[in-house]
Amino acid sequence: MNDCIFCRIVRGEIPADIVARTADAVAFRDLNPQAPAHVLVVPTRHLAAARDAEGEEGAMLLGRTLQFATRVAHDLGLDANGYRLVANTGAGAGQSVFHLHVHLLGGRPMGWPPG
Ligand code: AMP
Repeated sequence: MNDCIFCRIVRGEIPADIVARTADAVAFRDLNPQAPAHVLVVPTRHLAAARDAEGEEGAMLLGRTLQFATRVAHDLGLDANGYRLVANTGAGAGQSVFHLHVHLLGGRPMGWPPG
């Protein structure tokens, strides 16, 4: 999508603090971090939200994105104390950028339930 901010980051058209990438997904630091480690993991393919990942292809995309997020967490040293993976889905749940993304949050204790 031409005007999608995360598509533009994936294409390298706007700067981002990229921590890792594969052919299928890119991980970069959130501009407005909510934890000492706050990384966004986005599939390179544009889908508005997790609920748009349909069928086998969608299952692969979600699985690869989540698996990549766990690898990034490991590489950032977050395994020992744990971390949170969140995919806000829809404006009512707090989604503000409509390109599917997983927040990886770590480096501090996490409360439950989230706000
Ligand atoms: P959400 O509210 O779940 O859609 O999350 C969107 C996240 O994207 C927010 O935490 C923003 O701080 C973050 N964000 C928006 N624009 C950028 C950007 N250009 N680079 C990095 N993070 C961004």
